[in-house]
Amino acid sequence: MATNRTFTMLKPDAIENGYAGKILDMIIQAGFEIKAMKLTRLTTEQAQKFYEVHAERPFYGELVEYMTSGPIVAAILEKENAVADFRTLIGATDPAEAAEGTIRKNYAESKGRNAVHGSDSDENAEIEGIFHFSSSEIL
Ligand code: UDP
Ligand code: MG
Repeated sequence: MATNRTFTMLKPDAIENGYAGKILDMIIQAGFEIKAMKLTRLTTEQAQKFYEVHAERPFYGELVEYMTSGPIVAAILEKENAVADFRTLIGATDPAEAAEGTIRKNYAESKGRNAVHGSDSDENAEIEGIFHFSSSEIL
């Protein structure tokens, strides 16, 4: 995957609360092009693996439980400076600290149930994209 790409998930709270369309609209309006997308549900094993770097953190168990609690939308997005620009668009991890006009400010419930994932580096964007999509599913 090229370095002008990032990976996102609309998390279970976003889907449950009916915000998928509104969030996708914000993403597209911000200039991101969708290169792969699917509605799916993570198994416990997939969620554990995806968030492996957080395995020692106190919130890991709850995070895995939440991420497997309902469907998610996974997507690969393309834009110049995709990783950094997408992190700006989603806002801080905790919606209470997220800037006005960000996706998490608008749609997240809490620091844990925070509506959306965004990769934190080009390297992780590539790893996370490949984790969720086969090459024939990526434009
Ligand atoms: N998380 C949590 N409690 C915390 C920190 C993080 O439940 O104190 C959850 C939250 O869903 C977050 C995810 O773990 O999005 C990954 O954490 P990270 O620090 O990577 O935040 P992000 O990159 O998603 O902003
Ligand atoms: Mg992160």
